[in-house]
Amino acid sequence: MNPLHNTEIGPFAALDDAPFPRFEPGTVWLVGAGPGAPGLLTLMAYHGLAHADVVVHDSLVSNTILGFARAGAELIHAGKRGGKPSADQTDITKTLVAKAKSGARVLRLKGGDPFMFGRGGEECQALAAEGVGFRIVPGVSAGIGGLAYAGLPATHRDINQSVTFLTGHDLTGALPNAIDWPTVARASPVLVMYMAAKHLPAIAVRLIEAGRAPDEPVAVIANATLPEQIFVRFTLREAAMQRSLPTPAIIVVGAAVDMANTIAWFDAAASNGLMG
Ligand code: SAH
Repeated sequence: MNPLHNTEIGPFAALDDAPFPRFEPGTVWLVGAGPGAPGLLTLMAYHGLAHADVVVHDSLVSNTILGFARAGAELIHAGKRGGKPSADQTDITKTLVAKAKSGARVLRLKGGDPFMFGRGGEECQALAAEGVGFRIVPGVSAGIGGLAYAGLPATHRDINQSVTFLTGHDLTGALPNAIDWPTVARASPVLVMYMAAKHLPAIAVRLIEAGRAPDEPVAVIANATLPEQIFVRFTLREAAMQRSLPTPAIIVVGAAVDMANTIAWFDAAASNGLMG
């Protein structure tokens, strides 16, 4: 029998006996929590939460997901909402290293996927430099899961053979000047932007200047996969005039946006937040 279907002990209790890697004391698991809906957590993440001694989590991780942590686990909130300056990054890595060296099983829980605009690489570099062992548990990134919940295929044969993921913020919270906007504009028919709500007007102007059609559709998907999910559609020309947008949001530019007309399936209001 599939151990996950053992109703006598509950659907997930059997994860203890399932063939998951052992969470070794003194190591760090860098885990993606997915975009929000608890049901989008991976089984590996769930297993890690059930065994961690310390959970160091981002602001975007919900209490429902934190509730999967082992009773008695120490929960440490590591601040930092996407896009804001993060002077505290050094403190976070120091905490991870110190807790691991004290012999704890440390689970670093990040929204979405730890390696997608999540600074997971920096944390791994710091752990490697300190000789602390770690494992990466990928998660469903908001730029994939958010699109799915809004009914936008990230790729579709009639629309795009490539897709571009980018951030609308640099390390300081400013519009990333390091981004070569003309190249981004030409890179692919569909652009998926993280942390771009604040600078959307400036980004839209640059994309139009670089040749994207002003009447191209733009979607803002805020609080994706959650009961508070909001979907707003306008054109690139209109995006240049938007002032305040709901956050956290994924912003999509390109024809994929209008596929939501037929594919949108998620009734946020009716979802009750239960398993998305
Ligand atoms: N590692 C994360 C991204 C971290 S950056 C991932 O893979 O998803 C934070 C940005 O992610 C936010 O500014 C927003 O652009 C996006 N984001 C995260 N959760 C979101 C959600 N539920 N809905 C919409 N956007 C989200």
